[in-house]
Amino acid sequence: MDERERALAAAHSAATDFLATLPERPVWPRADLAEMLERVGGPLDEEGRPADEVVRELAERADPGLVAIPGARFFGFVIGATLPAPLGADWLVSAWDQNSGSSTLTPATVALERTAGEWILDLLGLPATASVGFVTGAQVSNFVCLAAARAAVLRRRGWDLARQGLYGAPRVRLVVGAHRHGSVDRAARFLGIGQDDLVVAAADGEGRTLPEALTGALGECGDDPVVVCLQAGEVHTGAFDPFPDLVPLAQAAGAWVHIDGAFGAWAAASPALAYLTIGMDAADSWTTDAHKTLNVPYDCGMAIVRDPADSIAVFRTGGDYLMYSSLDPWDVTPELSRRARGVPVWAALRSLGRRGVAELVERLHLNALALERGLREIPGVTIVNEVDYTQVMFRLDDDAATRALGAAILEEGTAAVTGAEWAGHAVLRCAMSSWSTEESDIRRTVEAFGRLVPLTRGS
Ligand SMILES: *Cc1c(COP(=O)(O)O)cnc(C)c1O
Repeated sequence: MDERERALAAAHSAATDFLATLPERPVWPRADLAEMLERVGGPLDEEGRPADEVVRELAERADPGLVAIPGARFFGFVIGATLPAPLGADWLVSAWDQNSGSSTLTPATVALERTAGEWILDLLGLPATASVGFVTGAQVSNFVCLAAARAAVLRRRGWDLARQGLYGAPRVRLVVGAHRHGSVDRAARFLGIGQDDLVVAAADGEGRTLPEALTGALGECGDDPVVVCLQAGEVHTGAFDPFPDLVPLAQAAGAWVHIDGAFGAWAAASPALAYLTIGMDAADSWTTDAHKTLNVPYDCGMAIVRDPADSIAVFRTGGDYLMYSSLDPWDVTPELSRRARGVPVWAALRSLGRRGVAELVERLHLNALALERGLREIPGVTIVNEVDYTQVMFRLDDDAATRALGAAILEEGTAAVTGAEWAGHAVLRCAMSSWSTEESDIRRTVEAFGRLVPLTRGS
């Protein structure tokens, strides 16, 4: 074995050892940042070390600070685990080391990504001619899509953003729902769209933007060019904006419609849940993640733009030294050098097939319903949302007890959930996004809460 083979063998063995601990290891890490810095920090040695020794040492030192995200009972935030096929594919992407911005340089990985993009459009019921840029996640996807939107709505006003820049341009207004994801505001900030340029439309009790509120918000924009940002899957409730009402309203007002469907867009891939996404296909751009619902390794999201000319207008690189053909990754994403992060998506979809994707999304939903049923049986627990999709939110009678319960479950280790605020109360939020969660995992989680609730209510 040469040094490279020994390093890979060490990584394989450490990776399988780690994965084998998932069923029983505490979901939340047992070491905090300070302890981890003790374990991995210190001055850099003068001399190097053999590769396999470094890999073994790395795995051993990192272990107590690792989170069981690829396991079956990590329900915090909205974070997916990793299916076997994309995990293997991701290792190959590293071994191949293809700098995948251009089909001229790396035809294999660009072809795999292009195919994965076509499959995604098909599964999500989006226009087959849209551009798909594989980016690091929904945050960057929101940025990419809103960048294309900003340039397009300005172009319709006769303003060429690429030539004339933003100074002196018509004011672009961004209409957002009251329960948009924070990454939308952040993307707006990257784009020179400030908080004062946002117009917020009110939401119903589940966080869905109301049609009357959208009409009002559009009215507030006057003659300014407008981008409307809607949502498929609110992070707390999992609720979907009513697209058949909202999209035509926005388009009648001349707005560009963007939909953030980081995890929600995947409902379209399930015949049983697709009703939630009706009307989504009429938008102009879409954000979704592969590292959440599709369970590929971090990081991977998709920026989808109906008319590829709108993404090219922002991202295509000028300059003679760069070769490009039809629609290359660097025409539709901000990076030049980039990892072929769409290749694990190809592998995930190939391993699941259309039926497997539908079953995956439906299983996440059924797990959410099972968790809801179990939690309802525990005295003192109130379910806060309508469980239409993958999110379950609950609380105890008082906020301090709810927060104590959140801390207690992390400490106890059976599952991880996220604390949040909803309608003026502390809540705990559970997101079903791991392919490996089974009925027994839901049962173990409910049992753990059943033990902890009386203790935290009494405290
Ligand atoms: C997770 C999430 C994001 C941010 O996605 P990243 O993949 O973390 O960049 C944006 N919008 C929604 C609705 C999300 O759930």
